[in-house]
Amino acid sequence: MRTIPLLREREKQIFDKAGNGTFEMACDRHSLAGSVSQRACVFCGSRVVLYPIADALHLVHGPIGCAAYTWDIRGALSSGPQLHRMSFSTDLGEREVIFGGEPRLYKALCELIATYRPKAAFVYSTCIVGIIGDDVAAVCRRVAREQGIPVLPVHSEGFKGTKKDGYKAACDALFSLVGTGDITDIAAVSINILGEFNIGGEAWMIRQYYERMGVQVVSVLTGDGRVDDVRRAHGATLNVVQCSGAMTFLAEQMKERYGIPYIRASYFGIEDTAQALYDVAAHFPDDPGIRERTETLVRDEVAAVMPELRHIRGDLEGKRAAVYVGGAFKVFSLIKALRLIGMRVVLAGSQTGNADDYAHMRALCDPDTVILDDANPLELSRFVIEKQADLFIGGVKERPIAYKLGLGFCDHNHERKTPLAGFEGMLHFAKEVHLTVTSPVWALLRRTP
Ligand code: SF4
Repeated sequence: MRTIPLLREREKQIFDKAGNGTFEMACDRHSLAGSVSQRACVFCGSRVVLYPIADALHLVHGPIGCAAYTWDIRGALSSGPQLHRMSFSTDLGEREVIFGGEPRLYKALCELIATYRPKAAFVYSTCIVGIIGDDVAAVCRRVAREQGIPVLPVHSEGFKGTKKDGYKAACDALFSLVGTGDITDIAAVSINILGEFNIGGEAWMIRQYYERMGVQVVSVLTGDGRVDDVRRAHGATLNVVQCSGAMTFLAEQMKERYGIPYIRASYFGIEDTAQALYDVAAHFPDDPGIRERTETLVRDEVAAVMPELRHIRGDLEGKRAAVYVGGAFKVFSLIKALRLIGMRVVLAGSQTGNADDYAHMRALCDPDTVILDDANPLELSRFVIEKQADLFIGGVKERPIAYKLGLGFCDHNHERKTPLAGFEGMLHFAKEVHLTVTSPVWALLRRTP
């Protein structure tokens, strides 16, 4: 077997028990120049968070490439408007780089607002805007005044940090909307669902669980999102934050200003979905029937999917998986979900995990699992081969790695169209994994780096 060498500066972001015994992960740092990180830029981080707000205008202030890179970036469904799916751009060129892009931004905003009549507009700053120094906030203030809708700058210059900084920039823009809507009809047992993006309709499934429990969902941020729902999110009594990275910033801000507590949740896998629902039920001890309604829901949903999951497990027992996704919280859930269907994780990693996340990941994984932070294609290829994985779970950038190496792939990122969350989603996930891992095509390929 040919060994792919690692970059020396990257060694502390890789834990391979075979190579070193102590667990010490360097993380939460900028990507190494020249490493060809799998990570997306700050702008992309903001774009993925705000994209599902379907009745808002999303204008990318930058060269056309930035807009093309994030065009229709999520499989996030809307039950109404589809404005979010358009990728508007100011298409900056040499002229604006020399003389400034503010007049072009002003003109684009006025034209688009007149044409599409959005409820609000988000204006994303890209790398070049940070370099030439356009005063995006001033243009937004002027247009908001003239047009009478919120026009929100998203300070997401691509080079200024990691994808996580993009999440924060998006949360800052959202936070300026929260608190501006009417909350008089909101019940005491009410929540906001944060960090849920309605990929393939997942937010609809999760919202339905809560409604069956008797919990009012004030807003989902940002899946199937509406500007008016965001504006009244401060009326909920609890924030339930999915995923470790994307929207914890907003939950923290809402806790500080409005005193709304938050809990973390994951809806991937039976175990974590049930835990999320029970945790929310436990938050409302004064509701006499909520615990019982939650137990009934979980019992019915689990009973509906278990027979097929057991059958699938019979075929997958002992197979090996590599998991590399954006947020570490999702990795935790995937490790448990894969165990349920008989598989073990031999590689685990994320783009945005912090030290606590990696410590937890280490505790969940088998002792010989390789753990990586902010990996690149060569590292992933090396460990997938060394660990003899049968399956790679990742996103659009990991798919070609898996197929070139000759192993099954499951898309668990925001581009997918299949709902994988909740009880029903667990069954979809298991079926997808089963289909790809047991495909006869892999037997016809020679696996080489
Ligand atoms: S913001 Fe910068 S890094 Fe991000 S897509 Fe645009 S040019 Fe590339």
